[in-house]
Amino acid sequence: MLIETFIRKQLRLKAHTVTRVEETDECMLVWIDRLGRRLLRCGVCRQRCLEVHDIRKEREWRDLSMRKLVLKLRYCPRRVECPRCGVRVEDFPWAEPWARVTAALSNAVAVLARELSWQGTARHYGLNWKSVATIVKRAVQYGLRHRKRPPVHVIGIDEVSRRKGQVYLTVVYDLERRVLLWVGDDRTEEAVRPFFTKEMGPRRCRTLQVVCMDMWAAYAKLVRQHAPNAQILFDRFHIVKHLNEAVDAVRRELWRRLTSQERTTFKGTRWLLLKNPWNLKDNQKERLSTLVQWNTPLVRAWYLKEAFQLFWTYKQPWRAQQHLSKWIRSAMRSKLEPFKKFAQMLRSHLDGILPWTKIRVSNAAVEGMNNKIKSISHRSFGFRTAENFIAAIYHCCGRLPLPVER
Ligand SMILES: [Zn+2]
Repeated sequence: MLIETFIRKQLRLKAHTVTRVEETDECMLVWIDRLGRRLLRCGVCRQRCLEVHDIRKEREWRDLSMRKLVLKLRYCPRRVECPRCGVRVEDFPWAEPWARVTAALSNAVAVLARELSWQGTARHYGLNWKSVATIVKRAVQYGLRHRKRPPVHVIGIDEVSRRKGQVYLTVVYDLERRVLLWVGDDRTEEAVRPFFTKEMGPRRCRTLQVVCMDMWAAYAKLVRQHAPNAQILFDRFHIVKHLNEAVDAVRRELWRRLTSQERTTFKGTRWLLLKNPWNLKDNQKERLSTLVQWNTPLVRAWYLKEAFQLFWTYKQPWRAQQHLSKWIRSAMRSKLEPFKKFAQMLRSHLDGILPWTKIRVSNAAVEGMNNKIKSISHRSFGFRTAENFIAAIYHCCGRLPLPVER
């Protein structure tokens, strides 16, 4: 089989044909021409058109490589007279109207960009970073338009920091299907509202049963406004995070007051206190007991933390509630400011904490995906613009369909 025929078949040309193939040192050039008087299609509506208006100057498209040689297609596009759209550039079976690369290459790029950084993907295909960015963003646009939208029942709202905690994005997951639903720039009420109004819409909001999230007023307000039937559940792992932060705050306060000799023994105890006691090694247990003899505030903090964790094990709502109110009372009497604050926070969020005994879901189900987002940011050295970061998140976590090659 001739190489011309092979390429024509690969590109699935019907109204076009390959006239010549030329090999140079760094690439393989493929000239394409119209096949006889076959009808061309309109680039806008894909309708067959009888008349060709004019021939434009030659354009070039990058295609997948042939072994090591870069393949380049060259063709003089026609403008057709479409009965519906007027004079338009024809439809190319090998590429999207705007593209400088073929559909086959852009899909290959999009697939690799799910695994590598955009920079790495660009290097692999000998493209520049900007081309990869354009391809990924187009793929995401296509994917969001064409993805399936089954009813959603349990969602998790979480935040992701960008640029080392300076700026935040909001991510929403379907906790049942474990898929990313939506990404918003920032975590304010206005930034997250479009998830409920645009992505979900009032009809799909009605099927929402549980919304799992951090104790963040903006999120809770939006849920009450747009999905009043949904139960708000404050995420277990966020609550534990706040609890650990309280222990840490007590520890730091104490550290400030220690003498330098006391500090040496005290050093490196942060992890001892955050770890579960049954996971401690013998020497760690010893250091913990030294600590216990020494620092009553820290020990009180540590016992409070351990006692709180029992809450997650209760199966009967009234027992859980009893435990929690006892705990809050003892935290308020502890004379530890961070714990008082934490207890106050719990008290004002009880209606979203107590349902845990009945609905045992948490954002931990999508922790893997959260880590993935962190690694996406990390491998690209933190995206400079939110727009690019958001596109990359959708691309890697949204399970979006890729454009179909014709
Ligand atoms: Zn048309």
